[in-house]
Amino acid sequence: MSNPLQKAAEILKLKKEHLQILSVPQRVAQVNFPVKMDSGEVKIFSGYRVQHNNARGPYKGGIRYHQSCDLEEVSDLAFWMSMKCAVVNIPYGGGKGGVVVNPKELSAKELQRLTRAYTRAIADVIGPFKDVPAPDVYTGPREMAWIFDEYSKIVGKKTPAVVTGKPLAIGGSLGRDIATALGGVYVLEQIIKNLKWRDKKLSVAIQGFGNAGSNAAKLLAERGFIIIAVADSKSAIIADDPEAGLNIKALLKFKQKTGSVVNFPATKEISQKELVLAPADILIPAALGGLITPDDAKEIKAKMVLELANGPLKEGAEEILIKRDVLVVPDILANAGGVTVSYFEWLQNVTKKKWSEQRVFEELKKTMDKAAKEVWQISRKHKTDIRTAAYVSAVGRIAKAIRIK
Ligand code: GLU
Repeated sequence: MSNPLQKAAEILKLKKEHLQILSVPQRVAQVNFPVKMDSGEVKIFSGYRVQHNNARGPYKGGIRYHQSCDLEEVSDLAFWMSMKCAVVNIPYGGGKGGVVVNPKELSAKELQRLTRAYTRAIADVIGPFKDVPAPDVYTGPREMAWIFDEYSKIVGKKTPAVVTGKPLAIGGSLGRDIATALGGVYVLEQIIKNLKWRDKKLSVAIQGFGNAGSNAAKLLAERGFIIIAVADSKSAIIADDPEAGLNIKALLKFKQKTGSVVNFPATKEISQKELVLAPADILIPAALGGLITPDDAKEIKAKMVLELANGPLKEGAEEILIKRDVLVVPDILANAGGVTVSYFEWLQNVTKKKWSEQRVFEELKKTMDKAAKEVWQISRKHKTDIRTAAYVSAVGRIAKAIRIK
């Protein structure tokens, strides 16, 4: 299934049965369920919940709504969640869900009925100590609130810990909204320290301007990085003056008002490909997976790719980047801040104690710094790329937890 898994298995001299266990999900739930549309028509939707491995704790992972979502994609994402939770050493396994739908074509009421119907369809396989969903592509606090409510009705008891990424008012955690981006920033700062790059202001291009991308832009700009180019799902722009970069605060307001980043003052519209090839020190993919091709990899100008998206590199792209000495900071480390604060939210729910924002950020920093340092050391020790090192760390931990009876 996965090249880095194989590489890690060799380095760890992993037992064959452990490799076999990790190569397939433990359970796949495929569900079809009816949803009444606003017109009165009933439509059947399909969804999945894939549970990859729970040796280290309950399955954990988001639910995405996307028209091109399929079992293969959700299975890959579930596998990556097992790895991600193990890299940052939080006591979860990996799972992922998906519904085949273009959420932009549904009204809020239809989305609510769809989310509730999907929850009923997977209710048997989820639970606060069994499998804990969360937001992913095109789902957020609103959908998590519906899942919480529907699940609680089914089990007859308010059960906030069944899902994370909830709105603050009903058991969400402070800081969860920016956690993916902030975790990525902490990892980036650690890696830069190791690389001793701090001599100049670093420039950044960001692909994707949703939750992860826009928050990363904001947090990095606040820390003195120069964001020279960004792309949302429709279009991309580059600053006229690359030394000054984009005024991210103003750009966020502009995007909120106009719905797009295009025509932001003192910028030029560029293609998505030009964004990927922009002359920035760091490229941050924060959109859907598989958008960066081997052809792009041959021409990428950045010296580092920080994967805030899950699986942004198409097969073959990473090899080329590594040959060209471009450092790839892999998704299972770079974007693990989201699930880490999900774990903090879940802890707050089960212990019925609220954490301050400061505590959330301190614990997040501790977790990400530690994981980044461990992965870096493994990569030096075994002379491997960072992704392989992250898998060595993760697979080692999972293998230790696997018990075969
Ligand atoms: N969907 C996010 C991810 O891919 C968050 C998962 C979670 O919080 O459980 O990491």
